[in-house]
Amino acid sequence: MRDLMELSGSAAYKKILDNLYDGVCFINRDKKIVYWNKGAEALTGFASDEAVGTRCGDSVSLIAEKRGINLSVDFCPISELESGADFSEREVYIHHKDGHLVPVLARAISLRDAGGEVIGAVQIFSENLSKNAAIQRIEELQRLALVDPLTGLANRRYAEINLRAKLDEMKRYGWQLGVLFADIDHFKRINDEYGHEAGDRVLKIVAKTFTHDVRSFDVAARWGGEEFLIVIESVTKNQLVAVAEKLRILVEQSSIPTDAGVIHPTISVGATIASPEDEQNSLLKRVDRLMYESKTTGRNRVTAD
Ligand code: GH3
Ligand code: MG
Ligand code: MG
Repeated sequence: MRDLMELSGSAAYKKILDNLYDGVCFINRDKKIVYWNKGAEALTGFASDEAVGTRCGDSVSLIAEKRGINLSVDFCPISELESGADFSEREVYIHHKDGHLVPVLARAISLRDAGGEVIGAVQIFSENLSKNAAIQRIEELQRLALVDPLTGLANRRYAEINLRAKLDEMKRYGWQLGVLFADIDHFKRINDEYGHEAGDRVLKIVAKTFTHDVRSFDVAARWGGEEFLIVIESVTKNQLVAVAEKLRILVEQSSIPTDAGVIHPTISVGATIASPEDEQNSLLKRVDRLMYESKTTGRNRVTAD
């Protein structure tokens, strides 16, 4: 009991436990709940001060057996753990404050004192989604967090993570790394003349050009508004410029029909090879300056250093 309180009172552990998505509660040997984290609050609607002090297995138990019709059935992980197991896992329902039951996967781990006596249990509740649903949710989160929803390209956050990793690899293994920065020309004018929706279609078409025409291990990302960063591995400067030229021409030759006429977008590109002295910022600054040089010298062109 003291151990439990000490554990739940330890500031660092508490902070971690409090912020887990999963519900976590500590149950002492008397089957009393002594700790209830934020995840458990979110899952059940019961605040910590409502849950702490109640006993599992009581008629007002928060936890119910999955197949038990009688929901006040005396289910408590302590009973199972006292019979010798160190770990129990079962599908149960947990009572929500609003009245419905929430299916959860409940895993309990015993806490024992130095003599091996069970002094309590840590019970972890995870929303009992099917495995597939759980994976899909993770993929969805990843997608939402790292993919630009309009174009389907990697977003800026991913581009930064990727560029940092590729720079590290380059320094470690001596690989050549090329970076392109592309900005659609007069995009504001496209929006003004053909409408925002047409502008969005231009972004999608340009993005498609980039995804189809770079190798699978090269990463094209939407850096911001109408700006794209493309990181190309193992290239010489000449090869990098050739890739940039190819992309520029492919964009130039694409045509996007609208009610107000056909749009032929163009891009201005900066191209540079990373040097061992480069950090992410120096590299991005340089490639942005080169792109800008393409703008000032007439647009629809590639500038390399
Ligand atoms: P420059 O050739 O010098 O690059 O000129 P520009 O008009 O392309 O550049 P500017 O930075 O002036 O304008 C960029 C425009 O891109 C302004 C902004 O409204 C538009 N924009 C940014 N994000 C989106 C988007 O998601 N959809 C659409 N349709 N427009 C966007
Ligand atoms: Mg721009
Ligand atoms: Mg632009």
